[in-house]
Amino acid sequence: MDHIQIAIDGPSGAGKSTVSKAIAKAMGIVYVDTGALYRTVGYFAREQGIAVDNATAVVPYLDRIRIEVRYEDGVQCVYLNGENLGDRIRQNEISMYASAVSSIPEVRAFLLDTQKKIAAENSVIMDGRDIGTVILPDAQVKVFMTASNEARARRRCKELAEKGMPASYEEILSDMNRRDEADRTRAIAPAIPAADAIIFDNSDLDFDATVAELIRLIEAVAQEKGILLS
Ligand code: C5P
Repeated sequence: MDHIQIAIDGPSGAGKSTVSKAIAKAMGIVYVDTGALYRTVGYFAREQGIAVDNATAVVPYLDRIRIEVRYEDGVQCVYLNGENLGDRIRQNEISMYASAVSSIPEVRAFLLDTQKKIAAENSVIMDGRDIGTVILPDAQVKVFMTASNEARARRRCKELAEKGMPASYEEILSDMNRRDEADRTRAIAPAIPAADAIIFDNSDLDFDATVAELIRLIEAVAQEKGILLS
């Protein structure tokens, strides 16, 4: 059987990663968080002392970056030049760096093979901004997951506090809006739904209801297309 490819795109804080992780576990497939790759390049840029508004300065350094994705106890770990960065890439400042480097064509080209290779070797549920449009254009299921700005900022706030990196709701909301606007309007791989994606707004759903609804959507598409999910 061919590998299963489920593409989950959408703005930050829509719950893509937590929900995708739960679905990967339920379906016994691999969860791929592609934002972590851009965050890793962003982290590297900051380590080099590059200013966030001068992110293209990272391009000459790309051949010094080695990024590896490993799964340890089912958890995706991203290694930068042999070092596991863990939650260091989750800081709010790194979110802004990730967004800045992600609009650079050389950075997107640099990360392309890593993403495609994981999907070639495994059945995946992969989340990001351009998965259904660029990385896995033939994915059997494509979902664009979104929620209101306020619901997304509230979730991001909670998530950062739980990770011990609290930031104020106002700061998160304004940074998130700036980042989403930049992601949506950039010239390369803009964060917009694929023509054949299902739009799923979960503003009024909690985590369990979101997972249940997404599983229902995935099963409905699979049945319609005659795809065996396991
Ligand atoms: O998903 P996450 O919030 O971790 O992504 C961080 C940033 O990386 C996003 O704001 C976006 O700019 C970029 N990104 C992207 N394409 C992806 C995944 C993330 O441009 N497939």
